[in-house]
Amino acid sequence: RAKSAGGNRFELADPEADARAITRHGLTTALPAALDRGEFFIEYQPLVHLGDGSVRGAEALVRWLHPQHGVLGPDRFIPLAEHTGLIVPLGRWVLEQSVRQARAWQERHGGAGPLRINVNLSPCQLTHPGLVQDTVDILEREGLDADALCLEVTESALIGADDDLLKPLRRLAEMGVDIALDDFGTGYSNLANLRRLPVSILKLDRSFTQGMQQFPADPVDLKIVEGIVSLAHSLDLAVTVEGVETGAQAEQLRILGCDTAQGWYYARPGPPERLHELALVDATG
Ligand code: C2E
Ligand code: MG
Ligand code: MG
Ligand code: MG
Repeated sequence: RAKSAGGNRFELADPEADARAITRHGLTTALPAALDRGEFFIEYQPLVHLGDGSVRGAEALVRWLHPQHGVLGPDRFIPLAEHTGLIVPLGRWVLEQSVRQARAWQERHGGAGPLRINVNLSPCQLTHPGLVQDTVDILEREGLDADALCLEVTESALIGADDDLLKPLRRLAEMGVDIALDDFGTGYSNLANLRRLPVSILKLDRSFTQGMQQFPADPVDLKIVEGIVSLAHSLDLAVTVEGVETGAQAEQLRILGCDTAQGWYYARPGPPERLHELALVDATG
């Protein structure tokens, strides 16, 4: 990046930064119409029980099929949607689609045990006054039990959260919705603070599982995860691990007592039919 070296030098443009800014601007202005035109879609990634390997549910992950740029991941547009406020209607759409999908899985599954659905919430949705009512309405309209829904909130969104911010989450938790603390371990939250939060699941960030790619794993990583799991369990929290890419990782994490896992080792995020197949194979052995 060029910097002015004093005097009357020209600022040299950084063409890459300019291109990024132009794309960002273009994407931002295209977002509202994209929602109206139905350019967003959701992929589902299975959540697998580490004890018996069964599929217990899935996390909904939104994508944008952009007419010029192709499929864009959430990291490209969620921050823009948060900035403009579009995240509220977009998030509501994701919740509605995901709840409908979970209901459809349950119907096709019969007695195979209910598949649960995890949906990510951004901090702006947390502070939006309609969150609880919207969620209640969607669950009712689609006919899904509150117990089958888990809302994921990042650790950083809840750092220093006051009671006003936690109130809607408490209401949802009282209804039976699980609240998961996503990307746990990347923020700086005080562990004792966990007791104050209406959270029932810790999702351990992928950075922890990365240290377990090799066998034997990094002993320090093992100790840290072991400590977190025992703390979580003593607080009655279940532990889900993200980013499991190898069988060795899965095995280590199972031994360490983690409850549920998610990652490419089991399946990449994919279309809803894929989850149905995985769960069905699993249910019929
Ligand atoms: P997240 O909630 O932590 O989701 C997990 C991310 O890890 C996903 O990235 C997933 O595709 C990726 N992943 C899963 N397994 C593996 C693995 O084994 N290895 C590696 N390297 N990666 C793996 P994705 O889909 O790009 O989503 C990124 C983030 O975008 C999510 O992180 C979540 O914070 C956010 N996001 C996604 N959908 C939504 C949404 O509907 N609303 C909001 N507010 N945020 C969303
Ligand atoms: Mg998540
Ligand atoms: Mg996560
Ligand atoms: Mg993560």
